[in-house]
Amino acid sequence: MNVIKSPQIYLDVALPAALPKVLTYRVGAGQEVPAVGVRVVVPLGNRRLTGVVWAVHDEVPQGYVPKEIEAVVDDRPVVTVAQTQCWTWMSEYYLCSLGDVVSAALPAGLKLASKTRIMVNPDVEMSRENEEGLSDAALNLLDALRLREGMDLKEIADVIGVAHPQRIVRFLVDRGLAISEEELKEKYKAKKKTFIRIDSEVMEEVGVIGAELDRVENKAPAQARALLAYLEMASNGEAVLKTELQKKAGVTSSVVMKWVEKNVFVLEERAVDRVGAYEGKVEELPVLSQPQTKAYTSIRKSLVDRKPVLLHGVTGSGKTELYVHLINEALDAGEQALFLVPEIALTTQLIVRLQKFFGNKVKVYHSRFNSSERTETWLKVLDNKKGSLVVGARSAIFLPFKKLGIIIVDEEHEASYKQQDPAPRYNARDVALWMAHRWKVPCVLGSATPSVETVWSTEEGRMTKVDLTQRYSGVMMPEIIVADLKKEQKQRSMRGGFSKLLRDNMLEAFENGKQVILFQNRRGYSPSWQCDLCGDAVMCERCEIPLTFHKKLHGLHCHHCGYHVAPPPKKCGACGSTSIKPKGLGTERIEEELADLFPSVKVARMDLDTTRSRHAHAKLLEAFSNHEYDVLVGTQMVSKGLDFANVGLVGVMSADKMLTFPDFRSFERAYQMLTQVSGRAGRASERGTVVIQTYSPDHWVIQRVIIGDHGKLVEHELIERKNFGYPPYVRLIRISLRHIDEKRVKAGAEVLATRLRQRFGDRVAGPDTPSMSRVNDLFRLDILLKFERELKMSSYREVLTVDIEEFTLDIRFKRLRVKVDVDPV
Ligand code: ADP
Ligand code: ZN
Ligand code: ZN
Repeated sequence: MNVIKSPQIYLDVALPAALPKVLTYRVGAGQEVPAVGVRVVVPLGNRRLTGVVWAVHDEVPQGYVPKEIEAVVDDRPVVTVAQTQCWTWMSEYYLCSLGDVVSAALPAGLKLASKTRIMVNPDVEMSRENEEGLSDAALNLLDALRLREGMDLKEIADVIGVAHPQRIVRFLVDRGLAISEEELKEKYKAKKKTFIRIDSEVMEEVGVIGAELDRVENKAPAQARALLAYLEMASNGEAVLKTELQKKAGVTSSVVMKWVEKNVFVLEERAVDRVGAYEGKVEELPVLSQPQTKAYTSIRKSLVDRKPVLLHGVTGSGKTELYVHLINEALDAGEQALFLVPEIALTTQLIVRLQKFFGNKVKVYHSRFNSSERTETWLKVLDNKKGSLVVGARSAIFLPFKKLGIIIVDEEHEASYKQQDPAPRYNARDVALWMAHRWKVPCVLGSATPSVETVWSTEEGRMTKVDLTQRYSGVMMPEIIVADLKKEQKQRSMRGGFSKLLRDNMLEAFENGKQVILFQNRRGYSPSWQCDLCGDAVMCERCEIPLTFHKKLHGLHCHHCGYHVAPPPKKCGACGSTSIKPKGLGTERIEEELADLFPSVKVARMDLDTTRSRHAHAKLLEAFSNHEYDVLVGTQMVSKGLDFANVGLVGVMSADKMLTFPDFRSFERAYQMLTQVSGRAGRASERGTVVIQTYSPDHWVIQRVIIGDHGKLVEHELIERKNFGYPPYVRLIRISLRHIDEKRVKAGAEVLATRLRQRFGDRVAGPDTPSMSRVNDLFRLDILLKFERELKMSSYREVLTVDIEEFTLDIRFKRLRVKVDVDPV
């Protein structure tokens, strides 16, 4: 019986579920009060969920009686206070539930759902030593786990007679004694590969390798090749992949094994999915050139004033080298660095480059990593022993940094920084800028083709613009020439999709021993299967688009819903004509035409179809960079961030589609795409060439690309956007409604648009049909809201949210899917 009544403590808890806000719970009498960021188990309806404490307070909640929390999971916060602020802001800004943000942010390993199965970690010896200091309950649990295949939390609770075993479970997991079944599976899925290194004694003893080489040179040339290839590949004495060594040396496994028998080579098994511990030497930082030094000084000056920087550096100017210096400064100060890159740029090439300077301080974080690796990185970042560098795709902005010294967003214009589905539909670049502003963290956005919005920010004085206008190598930017397809067709000089101009340039490149990249943003053989007579194309049954013909699969495929028809129809469904065939140019067709045009040339294709397996992408790039291929044909995958020294020519198979795409950003995107892909040519020694094929050679965007006049592009775009009310002058919010019944979508969209017009007047546009009116049997209509940039979001967020919520509750429209996208890209 309490004499003095202590005040009741309440916890606001964020749950990884689609709940609009935090829920309030009570701390039970005598229970310890967890801190903000600690995970707790709470009841929700008849479920139990693990959530994160968002606030601790003593305000009595109005209108309902809060339930008691069931258990505390952590003995220290796993989410920082700063993160709770950022995620709350994200849910407000991107008009989504806090639960959506928490769900996206936490790696699965930290969500600890009640159906997670826990088992004994088979890798750990059960010994007295390991069990030292375990509580009776923990020992009981271990015993119980040993007897079974695995148990979920509920079973565990029953077996050991503890109502809320999460904490004990987590304790065992942290000590490595127990593991979740999911993580165990993932752990063993990690493929092992064989690496070769030279025995360290052999390496250190002067002259041994030379003597060995002399010995085998004449009688076993293959062995000599293998040893030489190794020395060439492993410049720092690090291990190399055995298969790659064999390929490079042109020898079989048995030749390599001869060296192993002689104790010159040592074999090593390594899991390849993890970013292996770096064992090479850590190099000195690159010495900056004079223009780079100048840029670096300007960047530093701005960052000292805590003003973010846009680094506008042409392709090959060495932006990465500047980042490396900035990162180094942060690490030296014991701070953490966050380096964001688009998913596609997250290649081994980049990681190895960073490891050369920062060794094992480099951590990689992105969604393709499995959950145990991500959980591991999360906890390491949280502990921040020494400074560390996290390289990651957009989800890395969710990590629990405690002492962030710099954020770098490379290729800031990339649309892939924006998450499309599910909510939160955030833009990692903009979240980074928010973090920079809020916590005064130095922040650099870099690009060769910055977005119109970001350039505008620099003009408005919110950011500093720093330019790098030359390539590091001193090589001139590539020469861009245009192939006029209309003219060539008239002159009958086209061969399939190839103009004479492009063919001639390819020939010249091959003769000079150069490699060629061909870009076409359509995969498959041809984008449609069409009737010659009436022009009718075979459409997807579920989507409003023509089906793509894939020759190898001998079928028509929809790239949006997976629908397919095989084999393709031999007769036109509309007019009955049998003159029906593939129309248009996809990467598969280009590959085929190349085989006809240049039979002796080796061609690799890189698109979604050829890179489905986990390492295919990296392998292709590696092979191309070793000049195992002469031509690389690909979709936008080949346009980004690749640094190949030997590419002399880039061909853009068709620039027309991107110039006519109905979107206010299409000119900007076309400029970026053409410039980026051009940037792959002639990077190292000689000036490269780019051939752009098009039916509109005089288009102003193409003319801007040719002279590399990004400034004029932005100027033009800003005028247009001001006139027509587009970003950066307004904030766009797109509301999409989808349903299988077209009439219902129409009716719903009208009702919602009318309601919103009553509120916001002519800031509301639509409903309009998007370029694809139906996908996967769902009809779609969009309503577009345009709010003046100056208008604070808080002045309309509330009303807007209520209107949308009421609409979704309207019984007539209940089944409609409503998607809200702030700052759509
Ligand atoms: P960007 O990212 O601007 O396109 P990169 O950083 O890829 O350019 O640099 C282009 C090439 O020039 C790379 O091969 C890089 O190693 C080299 N490079 C750039 N700056 C330096 C430097 N200061 N020292 C040595 N090499 C450099
Ligand atoms: Zn027809
Ligand atoms: Zn479809």
